[in-house]
Amino acid sequence: MKALVIDDTLTSMAVICAQLRKIGIEPLSATDGATGIEMFKEHRPDLVLLDVLMPGMDGYETAKRIRQLERDGEWTPILFLTARTNDEDLERGIAVGGDDYLLKPISEIVLTAKVRAMQRIAQMRYSLVVLTRRLDEANRELIRLSSVDALTGIANRRQFDEFLPREWARGVRSAAPMSMLMCDVDCFKQYNDHYGHPAGDECLKSVARVLQNCVRRPADLVARYGGEEFAVILPDTGLAGAERVAEDIRQSLEALAMPHAGVPLGRVTISVGVACTVPRRENGSAEQLVADADAMLYRAKQAGRNRVLLASEDLL
Ligand code: GH3
Ligand code: MG
Ligand code: MG
Repeated sequence: MKALVIDDTLTSMAVICAQLRKIGIEPLSATDGATGIEMFKEHRPDLVLLDVLMPGMDGYETAKRIRQLERDGEWTPILFLTARTNDEDLERGIAVGGDDYLLKPISEIVLTAKVRAMQRIAQMRYSLVVLTRRLDEANRELIRLSSVDALTGIANRRQFDEFLPREWARGVRSAAPMSMLMCDVDCFKQYNDHYGHPAGDECLKSVARVLQNCVRRPADLVARYGGEEFAVILPDTGLAGAERVAEDIRQSLEALAMPHAGVPLGRVTISVGVACTVPRRENGSAEQLVADADAMLYRAKQAGRNRVLLASEDLL
């Protein structure tokens, strides 16, 4: 524990410092308010013993400034040292941020007892700060977990649902095109049936990795939309760019050549529906963009799977 003693009277300073050392506290000392404040800034003590009557800046003003230096949630106990305490002095001392008084001449027993009491308060405050910090960390982790898909580690549906309207609103402001990819693993039911559900899970992890690798801009979002379906939001991206990403996904997965005994090609493949629009307040919606991409995905499936189909708009 660090204690800062601010007192212009050298004899009382010497007595207090000696007593503090006796109870295992190393004192820092200053003989005027301004120096005391500087030392407080530099050393951040756990306790301040502060003389009320000092030439220049008095103890009340010093206490007030020390309180202003504390960061949110911090509270360093301040003990005033004074020869006089009428009710008004006491009230004023507490009002400017003091915690208690020590009467001069200092009694060793009272000094020790009050320092111990302040030490206890400081300890409790410290525990509270540590606890709060841990709680903050746990909360952040919870928020992260609630937005991540447990199997694949990419964004989950919840994050997608939060992200989409935000990006849509941003798109409305910037009047830039926005693209949506709906991707669905081909004949995945057969994959599960043939290799088993755990192998199916591993396959989905690989698919998610492929998607993530193909989508490079920081503003893009790859999410597990549900089951073996993935959605990709590409802000600031026109249809030509979206097609490139979609083809890259399709080809990369095919090139990975994960065996799939249930399909003619013998590999795991994916179908992708692509839609693009310039977000506008008055017509269209994010939901419509998803529906358009989904409709194209459906057609890609009908057309034979392992392909990319684009919703036709003259944005190419
Ligand atoms: P299509 O080419 O038309 O998409 O056919 P499909 O078999 O992929 O489509 P369907 O929707 O009939 O089947 C999807 C399958 O995906 C069924 C389900 O068991 C499987 N699936 C969904 N989520 C998971 C998962 O988390 N893990 C595993 N292993 N399988 C999943
Ligand atoms: Mg499927
Ligand atoms: Mg599906």
